[in-house]
Amino acid sequence: MTGTSQDVAGSRKLTCARCRRDLRWIPNRWPEGYICSTCHTWALETYGRCAGCSASRMTPGIAADGGRLCVDCAGIPGDYTCVRCGAEGRRQRKGVCARCILTDRLTDLLDDGTGKLSEALAPLFEGLRCMDRPRSGLTWTGSQHVAQMLQALASGDVPLTHEGLDQLSPWRSVAYLRDLLMHHGVLPAVDRHVLLFGQWLTGHLAAVDDLKQRKLLEQYASWHVLRKLRGIAARQPVGASRDRNARRKMVKALEFLSWLAVRGHAPDECTQADLDAWHADYRIARRPAQEFLRWCMRNKGMPRLEIPVIPTCNPAPIHQHRRLALLRRFLTDDQLPLMDRVAATLLLLYAQPLSRIVRLTIDDVIHEDDGVLLRLGDPPTAVPEPFAGLLLAFLAARPNTTTATNAASTWLFPGRRAGQPIQSQTMGLRLNKLGFVPTNARTSAIRQLVLQAPPPVVAGMLGYHDETAARHAADAGGTWKSYAPGDHTL
Ligand SMILES: [Zn+2]
Ligand SMILES: [Zn+2]
Ligand SMILES: [Zn+2]
Repeated sequence: MTGTSQDVAGSRKLTCARCRRDLRWIPNRWPEGYICSTCHTWALETYGRCAGCSASRMTPGIAADGGRLCVDCAGIPGDYTCVRCGAEGRRQRKGVCARCILTDRLTDLLDDGTGKLSEALAPLFEGLRCMDRPRSGLTWTGSQHVAQMLQALASGDVPLTHEGLDQLSPWRSVAYLRDLLMHHGVLPAVDRHVLLFGQWLTGHLAAVDDLKQRKLLEQYASWHVLRKLRGIAARQPVGASRDRNARRKMVKALEFLSWLAVRGHAPDECTQADLDAWHADYRIARRPAQEFLRWCMRNKGMPRLEIPVIPTCNPAPIHQHRRLALLRRFLTDDQLPLMDRVAATLLLLYAQPLSRIVRLTIDDVIHEDDGVLLRLGDPPTAVPEPFAGLLLAFLAARPNTTTATNAASTWLFPGRRAGQPIQSQTMGLRLNKLGFVPTNARTSAIRQLVLQAPPPVVAGMLGYHDETAARHAADAGGTWKSYAPGDHTL
């Protein structure tokens, strides 16, 4: 069998039969060869239908055709029965499986103080206990601050509410736990970004020393900015970019008040000369303060003055040949992560903003006999080769679907958080690293290029021809115009 070609004897190196990495210590030996501990653990956490005997059980073996095999059909040696629960699986400690150990730990952590499991947290207990790979649950609950948070909530030391969670830290772990609690129905679902903005706002306002300024900013935040975010949350997810915009507005509003104070004026004493001077420098950077200025004028916090018009321009136009060069690179460079290649391709090919791309689900990719369709609007649009192949390859290998939280995720780009897609900002940073800066201005520039050269035409320009693409190119004109331009506003 393969993998044993380089033997343990002598000075020759050993490699894992599965991942081909060099092995530094005597590993597990299976019929197919030596297996490193990572591949070994992963294999023993894989379940499904055995391609040999059709039984539904642990399937660590891999058949010649790639199908999964049970230990008996694969001839894998060893005992994989948990001495506690009798289930088949990797024995974590003293013959006991990871799920049993996780159950013990959760029983301990989620004790309500009377020796019983906290009733309110029972859904979380069940959810974590039944996760596909309980070992990741052990890792998570193994961290000291996670254990402390769970104990504090179970014992009632910290109220089991969103406000209660606000008292806990560090915020990353709290955000993860909050997602889990909402996911399992323990806490009511609230828009995560409204919440995050609220938390940020508390800190932001607390740092304002001038009491009058703070009061005005508080009113602006609660009467205007938060109200607007909540209105959006009632219709659709708020998303990271609106959260960011809202913060920028608050920061710039404070900046304006401080700047005005240095000139010796309170807001109700602001003059046209002040406003003109404020807008004379850093025009683009100060733009987010305009909403605050208008709000102040409407609410009699400031005299009615004229806000100078700031012309907008497209800072970095993109040309068709650059679009094609980028597309060619993302199509062919398999050194780049597949996820980034797919996201960049969707952006360049269909001019969709990242905030829209990250919210695509696997159901938006329709695989039919005569090709692949993508639901960007109605009707779905054809994806020509070679892009279709890239998309299907990615579908088969989506990241973040094996962790505790996203096993059943249908997001095309699942994030690390329960039930959440990857954030558009995170995706933007990833593309930035590849040398592609997807600003909103560029996305709208690309939209023009899509009208000139829709995807099937691009496929042809890159040297790929197929009949389906040609057929779709014929009715392309109408389809490409029908995409809704992305909503970038707050
Ligand atoms: Zn390996
Ligand atoms: Zn079998
Ligand atoms: Zn067990």
